[in-house]
Amino acid sequence: YEMSVSQLLRTAIEKCPDSEVIVDEIRRMKYSELDKESTELAAGLTTLGVKKGDRVAVSLPNWHEFIVIKFALGKIGAILVPFNTRFKIGEVAYILQKSGAKAVFFPREFDDINHYGQYLELKESIPTLQHLIGVRFKAESVQSFEDLLELGKGVPFTEVEIDSKEDVSAILFTSGTTGKPKGAMLTHKNLVHTAVAGGEWMRCTPDDVFLMPTPVFHVMGLMFILRTVASEARMVLMEVFKPEKALALIEKEKVTIHPGVPTMFILELNHPNFKKYDLSSLRTGEMAAAPCPVEIIHRIRKEMGMNVLVGYGMTETSPTLTATGFDDDNITRAETVGRPLPGVEIKIVDENRNVVELNTIGELACRSFGLMKGYYKDPEKTAEAMDENGWYYSGDLATQDEKGYIRIVGRKKEMIIRGGYNIYPREVEEYFYTHPGVMEVAIVGLPDSVLGEVSCACIKPKPNVVLTEAEMKDFISERVADYKVPDRIVFVDSFPMTASGKIRKLDLKSQLQSEYQ
Ligand code: ATP
Ligand code: MG
Repeated sequence: YEMSVSQLLRTAIEKCPDSEVIVDEIRRMKYSELDKESTELAAGLTTLGVKKGDRVAVSLPNWHEFIVIKFALGKIGAILVPFNTRFKIGEVAYILQKSGAKAVFFPREFDDINHYGQYLELKESIPTLQHLIGVRFKAESVQSFEDLLELGKGVPFTEVEIDSKEDVSAILFTSGTTGKPKGAMLTHKNLVHTAVAGGEWMRCTPDDVFLMPTPVFHVMGLMFILRTVASEARMVLMEVFKPEKALALIEKEKVTIHPGVPTMFILELNHPNFKKYDLSSLRTGEMAAAPCPVEIIHRIRKEMGMNVLVGYGMTETSPTLTATGFDDDNITRAETVGRPLPGVEIKIVDENRNVVELNTIGELACRSFGLMKGYYKDPEKTAEAMDENGWYYSGDLATQDEKGYIRIVGRKKEMIIRGGYNIYPREVEEYFYTHPGVMEVAIVGLPDSVLGEVSCACIKPKPNVVLTEAEMKDFISERVADYKVPDRIVFVDSFPMTASGKIRKLDLKSQLQSEYQ
């Protein structure tokens, strides 16, 4: 497991140079081509002066070029800093300044943003930023990805030595669900070990075909790239997730593994054309990154005919810490996120960081092969989250049982305290999911002068279903204690989401506060 990202690719190249590794909307690429082009790009970047330890920012959608860049940086020992294509100029400036990136790769226009214009402006004000590199376009004042490949063809190149345990491979910014994104420094070993362990856990083989609907700039996408290569398998990239497109790609490319965030599965299952597609190639999937409703796990098993697994983790841990398995546990223990992967240690602690008893709610802390070195240039945040014995405190509330199964109760910051009683939104949300008319739900706390906080359920009904507040209140009152029944029920058409597929509860809260007060 102690390999660099580049050695991981090398191992696959030796075994299956002619197999396809990437399929995207414009290209089908073989392992040997990925190797060749990433070496050319590495050589091209070296001529620009990019060296080991330099940060290189990349803001691209799920295009094959992202993967070429990742492996090129691996060969130079430069550090990948990927970030969201939706970021506006202020957010981009924050990432580029914080990381001190020497170069940045970007498309001309994407997500209705004129990236080209944005970066021309930024280059003036950020002295560390020396090279702008356009992908799939050429323009004044920028290098182009294609030209760098050409440039690299003519020059000799040798891969640098990597200390996989010490050298940072990527700085990944967290989703920003609870505040400003933090840059987690992940080493080569962090990423490679997690990729290999994840592949073994999913029983991946070279015959597997992964769908890649989650963004490559988020830890889940990056991990699935590496897991594909670790398994000598193939990945089918989706530029942007659309439910029907995903279903069509599964049929066309005979996808065997479907990773995704819960919302993606919810949208597919409820799509009017769901039944038109042949999904029989699906073997398994991984649902992760946000609470996975039990009801949806059961529906995936029944209606998509695959044994979907649940994974839990975070950017800081590369990400997978725990997962359900193929044995009966992911069916019978669907309310849990399974057990720690081999080599992961988990403990549940109280406010003083002392271990609590089994089946008691506390904060989840971990030590793992995937655990980051720390937050980049942020010793304070690092010291808050990590202790001197190497434990990382996640901010998630969880329980663990006799058999080691972990149940995620919710985030510490999302717990609602109503008149002195604790409400864990996740628990109540799970009940709403069992209502046949509910598509998606999020419960948040709102300030209240008497009770401190009250709870508000935001419900998105299924297409063509009309729900009423009274009906919803009756439904939930029969299932949970009175103090957990939401004080308010609001119907919505959509939720504010992070690019990594989580409902932005903080934004939802402020929307509700301004609308209802
Ligand atoms: P930030 O740290 O910037 O606030 P974030 O925590 O959402 O953002 P990520 O690293 O993308 O950033 O997400 C990790 C978090 O996602 C976990 O800490 C946990 O709260 C949640 N999560 C991940 N997987 C699951 C799961 N299977 N069930 C419930 N929650 C999950
Ligand atoms: Mg987090």
